[in-house]
Amino acid sequence: MRVTGTAQREAWLAHTSPPVEQVRPDLWSVPVPIPDSPLRYTLTYLIAAGGGLVVVDPGWDTEAGWQALTGGLNAAGASPADVTGIVVTHVHPDHHGLSTRLRAVCGAWVAMHPAEADSLSAFQGQDGGFRRDDLAWLRRCGVPGDAAAGLAVTEGTMAAVRAMAKPDVLLGHGDLVPLPGRRLRAVWTPGHTPGHLCLHEEAGDLLLTGDHVLPRISPNIGLQPHAAEPPLAAYLRSLEQAAAYDTAEALPAHEYRFHGLADRVRMLLAHHERRCDEVIAILAQLGPATVWQITQEMSWSRGWAAVTGFMRRAAIAEAGAHLRHLADAGRISVTPPAPGEPEMYTAEADGGPILPV
Ligand SMILES: [Zn+2]
Repeated sequence: MRVTGTAQREAWLAHTSPPVEQVRPDLWSVPVPIPDSPLRYTLTYLIAAGGGLVVVDPGWDTEAGWQALTGGLNAAGASPADVTGIVVTHVHPDHHGLSTRLRAVCGAWVAMHPAEADSLSAFQGQDGGFRRDDLAWLRRCGVPGDAAAGLAVTEGTMAAVRAMAKPDVLLGHGDLVPLPGRRLRAVWTPGHTPGHLCLHEEAGDLLLTGDHVLPRISPNIGLQPHAAEPPLAAYLRSLEQAAAYDTAEALPAHEYRFHGLADRVRMLLAHHERRCDEVIAILAQLGPATVWQITQEMSWSRGWAAVTGFMRRAAIAEAGAHLRHLADAGRISVTPPAPGEPEMYTAEADGGPILPV
């Protein structure tokens, strides 16, 4: 792996914001700040052609974020009114947050994968039902009632999601972004979210990787209560797909640009294999356990005590995703829960008990 966004990396190490950069002719990266996040900023991409100007992942919806985005557009010789299209790699608020405000100013179309549109519409028209389902999922994970009440989605969260821009354009795998004059192709990479997209431009030999492949951190792969497909299996398959673009420069949505996608994919695959081994070892030690019990025993970069609030929920979902993956592979087993009871996982595989490693 070779870092190509050297100014971005220096800024990362110096805890400052990287500069707006022209990465290719008519392609700029713009750091848009994320409030109170260790990720610090989203790298928004501005891509122009004779036929228009597309913003990929406008960033988190704050006034500072809007100023950063408009400043980036100005640096590229444009203004928000010139934007003709918005593409989001996925609908998390650090990517899709500003789409509503940007669209209101310029009337641009908003494009995403159909599965992301489904995630947004799952929140529509649901009142107490969504929180009730979410509490039931936390209970199946074995989260105690008081902790679950603090972790379940709130009306405020749901209202924020409902306010997010619905798509005008759906991009399936292989579809071209409607930007005449450039061939920017959607690559469907489910895992981090069910409809995550990367964007490939053959002529510029680049892959916008969104959150799918980042140079330093591993994106959260969490069990999504409403996902159709187990997310870790989907993610591992999508990683293999990204490795096929090894000649391309990776333009991620966080941190810094780099070369060497196949190398980075190998590291991420190894990371998840280690995570799976860790879960099996924990199970062998604990005996039958819930997702919640296993989550607390897993290693977290800042330690479990520092995993609070939304991060705690993401941790439970990540443990759940690894457990589900191991159970699907027959490496551990799971007892289906009685109504209102948690699922219990054991290290017993079909081939007999697995010894601690
Ligand atoms: Zn992100």
